[in-house]
Amino acid sequence: MNDHQPQDHDRTLAILGAGPAGLYAARAAAASGRFTGIDVIEALPAPYGLVRYGVAPDHPETKRVTKVFDRVFDSGHVRFLGNVTVGRDITHSALMGHYDAVVYATGVSGDRRLSVPGADLPGSVSSADFVSWYSGHPDAKLCPPLSSVRKAVVVGGGNVALDVARLLVSPHEVLRATDMPDDVLDAFLAAEVREVHVVVRKGPGETRYSPVVLREFAELPDVALKVDRRDVEAAETTAGISRASQDNLEMFRSWCDRRDGVSVRSVQFHFWTNPTQIIGKSEVQGVHAFANPPGWAAQELKIPADLVVHCVGFSATGPDWLPISTTPGGLESLQGRVRSSDGKQMPGVYVTGWLKRGPSGTIATNRTDAEETVACLLEDLEGLRRRAQRKDVLDVLTAAGIAVVSWSGWRAIQDDERAAGQRRGAVTAKLSNRDLMVAAAHSGPAEWP
Ligand SMILES: Cc1cc2nc3c(=O)[nH]c(=O)nc-3n(C[C@H](O)[C@H](O)[C@H](O)COP(=O)(O)OP(=O)(O)OC[C@H]3O[C@@H](n4cnc5c(N)ncnc54)[C@H](O)[C@@H]3O)c2cc1C
Repeated sequence: MNDHQPQDHDRTLAILGAGPAGLYAARAAAASGRFTGIDVIEALPAPYGLVRYGVAPDHPETKRVTKVFDRVFDSGHVRFLGNVTVGRDITHSALMGHYDAVVYATGVSGDRRLSVPGADLPGSVSSADFVSWYSGHPDAKLCPPLSSVRKAVVVGGGNVALDVARLLVSPHEVLRATDMPDDVLDAFLAAEVREVHVVVRKGPGETRYSPVVLREFAELPDVALKVDRRDVEAAETTAGISRASQDNLEMFRSWCDRRDGVSVRSVQFHFWTNPTQIIGKSEVQGVHAFANPPGWAAQELKIPADLVVHCVGFSATGPDWLPISTTPGGLESLQGRVRSSDGKQMPGVYVTGWLKRGPSGTIATNRTDAEETVACLLEDLEGLRRRAQRKDVLDVLTAAGIAVVSWSGWRAIQDDERAAGQRRGAVTAKLSNRDLMVAAAHSGPAEWP
């Protein structure tokens, strides 16, 4: 699109955010054949959003979906403009001048912790921070040193809690094979976590765990799994639980009967338990909690811990620089058509993914979601006002000194990551330093479709 002179009938589209929702939207828009230019503008030098910076590093099969996304760019019809933060490097109104339509797919951000006394102590971290750190997100905060952690409490009844708990007790050979950045891997290898306590507000038949993810615990070598039989028996009286919950309950029941022998590490599930305080003076020393299972006496627990990870979801905050009203579930939208605070549709502005629905669903959920949004956009396209600005946004960004990362630049980052992985016997090892990533991306000539 660099030398490209748009015709009157040309239509251009910017998709903001290169996570699954944005990339499924790009795929659907490209397949429609209705756009002469589609740009995916991404804040990071790398695409894929939470597939790269959320999905657990020991789940490479889940990350294989990136191959589908790569085809969107390899086709040459869609440009990747990485390392460009919308709202900072380019404003919403500037984008509306450059493109006929924009689709926001920037996800949600913002950590969430339990609101209990002590939640801000060093050693008490949100899952957003902990996951970003172990995933090598360039903007991640430093994680508390794992080398001094012997006991950890993981709070949460969803898959992220399982990912965190599993990684803390995973064998070294499993960790070495992941794509964790080298410094993160070193921290995990130095850790000697003996006990992980998973604290869950609800019962064993009410968690949001995927059975397939829960089952992985049973395959961990040398890890004792502990579940109180009374919790399982109390849950068995719960009527109308889903198929997945029944599978989970079955699994928890089988763990009550496990004879694990002498294991070095253990994972214990505490159901119907609410943390009431994180204790410690200058750092975390444990968690006070209140267990209140149905049918037996409530009791107070004190669980010693050096690390507490709060896996209690993400705060669903959208961009604060858009003149749009947000709901707890995401942006105010109708099937992806964004509405402003006064309830009116904003012409040419669309939304998809977590920003549209709130933080829920799997990667695949974003596909139907993005297709719905793009279908609305295509329906409206003819009536949309044409962009005023014919200048290529890439030239504008470059002139402003932004080191935009192209798709070929991202491929160069990947080459460096593969080389780093091979040095330790893994397929790939992530670079997490933004400057190094951008330098790798610009080490060769940028190729723009
Ligand atoms: C820890 C974790 C683990 C998960 N594991 C799984 C799993 O194993 N399997 C599964 O199916 N699902 C999993 N999910 C869910 C899945 O990742 C989400 O459904 C999906 O990533 C949401 O897609 P999205 O595109 O809406 O948002 P995101 O993936 O968050 O993508 C948003 C993108 O927008 C970019 N962006 C943000 N702000 C700006 C800006 N101002 N300018 C430009 N770009 C911006 C971000 O950098 C990011 O790349 C997991 C989620 C989490 C949090």
